[in-house]
Amino acid sequence: MNTSNPTNLYDLAPPRLEQALGAIVSPPFRVKQIEEWMYVRGVDAFDAMTNIPKELRGALAEHYTIAFPEVVERTTPATDGSQKYLFTLRDGNRIEAVYMPMGDRTSVCLSSQAGCAVGCTFCVTGFFGAGRNLSPGEMLGQFFTIQHEHDVPMESMNVVFMGMGEPLLNFENMVTTLDVLYRSIAPKRITVSTSGIIPGIEELAKLPRRPNLAVSINAPDRRRREEIMPITKKYPLEELIASLKKYPSEKGREITIEYVLLAGYNDSHSDALALAKLTHGLRAKVNAIPFNEDPNLPPWMKRPKEGSIDRFVDTLVRNGVQVTVRRSKGRDIAAACGQLRGKSVAKSRATRG
Ligand code: SF4
Repeated sequence: MNTSNPTNLYDLAPPRLEQALGAIVSPPFRVKQIEEWMYVRGVDAFDAMTNIPKELRGALAEHYTIAFPEVVERTTPATDGSQKYLFTLRDGNRIEAVYMPMGDRTSVCLSSQAGCAVGCTFCVTGFFGAGRNLSPGEMLGQFFTIQHEHDVPMESMNVVFMGMGEPLLNFENMVTTLDVLYRSIAPKRITVSTSGIIPGIEELAKLPRRPNLAVSINAPDRRRREEIMPITKKYPLEELIASLKKYPSEKGREITIEYVLLAGYNDSHSDALALAKLTHGLRAKVNAIPFNEDPNLPPWMKRPKEGSIDRFVDTLVRNGVQVTVRRSKGRDIAAACGQLRGKSVAKSRATRG
């Protein structure tokens, strides 16, 4: 028995899973049954596969695992029902995911990396620095754990890769994860959010089935975007917008331009006008996200007052921009990227210190 470090079958791309199973599973229809248990039902134990003979389940367990990351903390549900999860990975890394009920639909926000090297200055994950790529099993495990715990029907699920990490810097594992999710969730129900990694956007554009694309812009000009998103030095704002203009648009789908609103920094009337101009000609909508304050982040970064948020949005709307505001989903449970892990890291540093 391989007890050292057995392969997690969720980490294999679907064609490789078929190959791996084909070597030990017969007759062939059993492969389809196992795939169904994994990809549609999302089980994390071979013994849960009740229509698979016991001996075969035992043989699978001899060679492989189907493990998920372990939940170490769940926040108390917020007033809007959202709940944040902190998971621990096999190597001790910690990642976050968020459950967000929204009427007849439910969104889950997943992490793609355990940390992030992109270093956006308004982001707690960026503050704590780089981590490793998550495997497909680690991403799917966040999804299925939350889906099971809340017993959400697959047809009501939306998935957003907007948690810790830059998904387009973990491209291959992201594509495998998407391929599995597509078994039960339509691509238009899945969103991948990027800080603007142009080569990744170009690769995404080539996929036969594409998720929705969200791009974090956060400033209407290059100078300020470089200040708060240093990645702009590598992928300049003008080139990023040009790559979005070339991105293949599908019927009824637009790119989401995310814009974190920082009081007195990027939330003025003229900033809204400049953002409208920047996004002119893009099939896009703006998602304005009032900043979530956090003790790990620069003290000058503040959430704008409600009146300023309203004025910013009004200016966009009057200039023909479609816009939504992410008001407070999960705000009281520190739902912004990396904040829960940030708290746990800060706590353990204080304990050690
Ligand atoms: S906002 Fe996203 S890309 Fe930027 S540092 Fe945070 S996790 Fe990384």
